[in-house]
Amino acid sequence: MTKLETVVETSWNLENSYADLPERFFTKVEPTPVSAPELVILNSSLAEALDLNVVELEEEVEVFAGNKLPEGSTPIAQAYAGHQFGHFTMLGDGRAILLGEQVTSWGERFDIQLKGSGKTPYSRRGDGRATLGPMLREYIISEAMYGLGIPTTRSLAVVKTGEGVMRESQLSGAVLTRVASSHLRVGTFEYISQWGSKEELKILADYAIDRHFPEVKNGENPYISLLQEVIRRQASLIAKWQLVGFIHGVMNTDNMTISGETIDYGPCAFMDVYDRKTVFSSIDRRGRYAYINQPAIGEWNLARFAQTLLPLIDDDQGRALQLARNEVVKFSQLYQSDWLEGMRVKLGIFNEEPGDKTLIEDLLNMMEEYESDYSNIFRALALDDLEGMKLFKREEFNQWYHRWQERLGRQEESKECSQQLMRDSNPALIPRNHRVEEALKAAVEEGDYSVMERLLKVLSNPYAYSSEQEKYTTPPEPSDTPYRTFCGT
Ligand code: AMP
Ligand code: MG
Repeated sequence: MTKLETVVETSWNLENSYADLPERFFTKVEPTPVSAPELVILNSSLAEALDLNVVELEEEVEVFAGNKLPEGSTPIAQAYAGHQFGHFTMLGDGRAILLGEQVTSWGERFDIQLKGSGKTPYSRRGDGRATLGPMLREYIISEAMYGLGIPTTRSLAVVKTGEGVMRESQLSGAVLTRVASSHLRVGTFEYISQWGSKEELKILADYAIDRHFPEVKNGENPYISLLQEVIRRQASLIAKWQLVGFIHGVMNTDNMTISGETIDYGPCAFMDVYDRKTVFSSIDRRGRYAYINQPAIGEWNLARFAQTLLPLIDDDQGRALQLARNEVVKFSQLYQSDWLEGMRVKLGIFNEEPGDKTLIEDLLNMMEEYESDYSNIFRALALDDLEGMKLFKREEFNQWYHRWQERLGRQEESKECSQQLMRDSNPALIPRNHRVEEALKAAVEEGDYSVMERLLKVLSNPYAYSSEQEKYTTPPEPSDTPYRTFCGT
């Protein structure tokens, strides 16, 4: 293996706990250097959260490009498998390299990964590379998700490589630095379960527990607890997606984390008009990963996860299966209750009444029937501004509005408190597809990053309801061709 030069005496404080696991878990491999790297964006607030020196990082384009390694790095590609559109297959980091784990002086640990940094043993027929548009898109959407308060991997930097990458045409190559609380996936467990020993499976499960759920370590059955915790986090995560109208687009098991963070911003997008069947991904022809299907797919993926844990849950496999099933079936209840709670809050409701679910569903049904913009309806309700939207002119809506007002009247909190709660929980803006495209076009075609920077600024504070945000709330012009997104770009 060639040895890349190391950048020393910096604020990096890297450990490599994953590289200390058995060999089967990964392959040691270095990034492939690129010819003319140029830093196009650096996330200074994230750098601070990682206990890194921003001024120093600005000089470290070679690290973000994969031309040099930060001190303390043991670069690896992680092995994993996954169910893609329901079919099990071997995968692994085909175009990503984990540089190590940045440990802050206050003891937090974050994976630092380069995406688009060259071939690895898991690249199959791929070139190991990524292109500028999709890497900037991941940067924008992941940071928007963070701003919205939704658990997510984050983006520290994007560099242009100065090299062309062949897709349908020749495009600019780029490398994204992705930050995650870990890159453990359901697919990592599927990989070890399929090809590893029981001992390796235990090593993986113990590693996941140590890293994400140390409190369950000494419990009665830590592996059932691990399953419970992952189910709980995923139920909460997917409820948050549904509440803001986020469609992941490729919920394969390799794209579902153990930490409960959103990962893999390929074909994802936010819904404008409320339509439960919305699909953006060009390859999702049957709508497996449509908006409405996300909770059920979440449960299906968690059943795959549960299956991998059976050998650890109980020596009696029949009993293990029963115990695991008892947990997986709780997903739907947990999800429903997180979603209902989130919807109540979106409508300014503090307490619980049995009729709440119907009240919410009646609103959603009307939104679907009258093709209303999902985010803007809630935004308007939060502002108590009933001008301008088609739905508000319907008699049906009027009746619903009265029921809602009566419902709000039956709680102790004042109308002002309700409105505050609504503004705190309904984003004034989301990363609208046409706005994201506009920012990417300026960046990729004209080298003008100012449009993206302005977009990122407003997205970092989506609950502010400022006049600055106002112009980002406009839905796209109606179009005959639906918005389409792509995988593996
Ligand atoms: P994804 O669709 O991003 O979840 O990726 C699925 C699998 O394809 C993962 O194993 C990726 O590492 C791999 N992959 C995607 N794009 C490339 C590429 N350009 N070169 C090599 N592997 C890739
Ligand atoms: Mg993936």
